[in-house]
Formats: sequence, structure tokens, C-alpha cells
Amino acid sequence: FPEEGVDGQFGIVDGFDAKFFVEPDEDTKAKYRKLKEENEQKKRLLQELKGKENITKDGTKINLYANIGGVSDVANVLANDAGGIGLFRSEFLYLESEDYPTEEAQFAAYKTVAENMAGKKVIIRTLDIGADKQVGYFGLEKEENPAMGYRAIRICLDRTEIFKTQLRAIYRASYYGTIAIMFPMIISVNEVKKIKEIIAEVKAGLDADGIPYKDVELGIMIETPAAATISDLLAKEVDFFSIGTNDLTQYTLAIDRQNTKLEAFYDAHHPAVLKMIEMTIANAHKAGIWAGICGELGADTQLTKEFLAMGVDELSVSPAKILPVRKVILETDVEAYRRRKQE
Ligand code: PEP
Ligand code: MG
Repeated sequence: FPEEGVDGQFGIVDGFDAKFFVEPDEDTKAKYRKLKEENEQKKRLLQELKGKENITKDGTKINLYANIGGVSDVANVLANDAGGIGLFRSEFLYLESEDYPTEEAQFAAYKTVAENMAGKKVIIRTLDIGADKQVGYFGLEKEENPAMGYRAIRICLDRTEIFKTQLRAIYRASYYGTIAIMFPMIISVNEVKKIKEIIAEVKAGLDADGIPYKDVELGIMIETPAAATISDLLAKEVDFFSIGTNDLTQYTLAIDRQNTKLEAFYDAHHPAVLKMIEMTIANAHKAGIWAGICGELGADTQLTKEFLAMGVDELSVSPAKILPVRKVILETDVEAYRRRKQE
């Protein structure tokens, strides 16, 4: 911004290209007037896709869900006609709080979301604190390499009281809707087995207290190269996979996702990442479970056809991306795309 400030002056903000114009010339104004009209026209056309199924031209149906980071996001999920919530980042409860959120506070938040989604699936991702998401009261030590450090499921399996409180709140809320749970940053079968032991304890506690809950689907995020590589073994342990491409790309390419200096090297379409995704989906299907994508790449419409050809069962994207992704799904003929690729 100019130092003297821009109060009272005419400005144009280009959110697509991260540009800001103060008192632009007539050509710039005309260019943006046209862009604005085109954009509004696109939005109007997308509105017509509301209520439609996510089905390809040759009849493949997939689930198109939304990612949320708080209770108030649900209105936007419903307004954009998402079929469910594929990633409910639960960190907000911890980030917004001065101290560990109580079971009651968590239960209230999860229950509200489950009820507001009125039976549509809500996949809650358990605590993924550490690395880029720091919370003072956790008293985490400063680390040289936090993205590869004490974070997410590692904290939960170490400080099990925090984990159990969250699981108990989620199971209690499961009674009020269709909740599924998934676990972040998994690297081994052993972690999944430990998680299941802890869940058994939590359920036993609820039974003892006479508190009702439903059976919930249990899934893991595939966001480490380790998990993708052993996805055949992991698939035998869980009900579904959700591929977290943000971290999967970071760890596969050895590129810090937060380091803006490395943007030129950060190739989201890198064949190594795409191969990991393909392998994960294939291993899920071999074991009879479903696989979705909930990282940013899931909303990349340049790749929607590719993901459909890989057989992805679910894409979970930000609410604003639901209709643009649905548009590509409706325009795709998966078999024809596969044939063209083989030629
Ligand atoms: C991911 O890593 O792709 C993901 C969805 O999780 P987050 O962005 O919260 O790390
Ligand atoms: Mg992640």
C-alpha cells in the first residue's frame, strides 16, 4: 500500500492474482469490469449445478464433500451443496482456547455440526497440533524441524489423556448424526493398532457410564510417503483412506510447504505425488475400502479427470470449490479418458 494511505480513493482488488490498484486508468477499469462480469456469469452457471448428482458421463458416481475448520463453516457447506464434510479440522477448538478444551466443549461443537449436517457424513480429523499449528498451553519444546517433529498423532499417542478426551467427545456426538473419525500423520500399522486399543478403552468407559454412541467408520490420512508405501497393509486395518496431499507433497518432495522461497520447486503435479495417490487408491480398493482426497490437490480441476481415472471415491474440497469440481465431474467420460491416456 502507498505510505500516505488510500482513504477515499478508488481501488480494485484482484484476489485471483493478488494485485491491488489505486485510482487505476480507464483500460484497467474496463479490463476488470469485464472480468467481474465474466466471473459473475460463471458463478450463475455454477448455481445451476446445485442439487445435481456427482456423476460422470459414463455413470461413475463419487462423493463430493467439503473441508471445514470450525462450526460456523457448516452454513457455507450446505449453501454450496456438499454431500458431507470430508475433513473437519478439529484444531480450532484447541487454537481458540486458553487451556485444553473440555470434553463438554468439544462434544457441544461436534454435536452441533453433526446435527446441522442432518445425517450427512461428517469426518472429524483428530487433533493435528504441532508444526505449523502451535498452541502455547501444550508447552511444546522448540524443535529444529517441527514439520518432522512432535506433532499430530504422535502427541496423541504420547499424551493419551488429551486424545481420550477428544475421542470420548466425538463418540458421544456420534449419536446425533453420521460421524466418522480419521487420524493424521500416520506412518505405521502399529500406530493404528494403538489407536484402536485406546478407542476400545474410550468405548468401554462410555458403556460403563451408560452413554449412547454409534459405530463410527475409522479412517486414516495418507499424508506421509511411509503411509502411501504401506497402504496395502494399512488398508487391512481401517474403513477408509483420506489422502492429505498438502503434507504428502511436502514430505515426498522434501519441500517445506510453508517456505515461500521454494514455491518455484513445489510442483503439485509432480509424478511422484500422483503415483503415491494412485497406489493408495488401488491398495484401498484391493482391500475393499474407499479412498478419498482431502488435500488442496483434490480441488485442482486440472486433475479431476486424472483422479476419476484412478478410481477415487471421494473428493473433499473447500466449500467454494464444490460446484467447480462438480462441473468437471459432469463433463468427464472416465472410460474415454482412460483410453486416450493409453494411446
Ligand atoms: C493435508 O496435509 O493435505 C491436509 C489435508 O491436512 P492439513 O492441511 O490440515 O495439514
Ligand atoms: Mg496434513
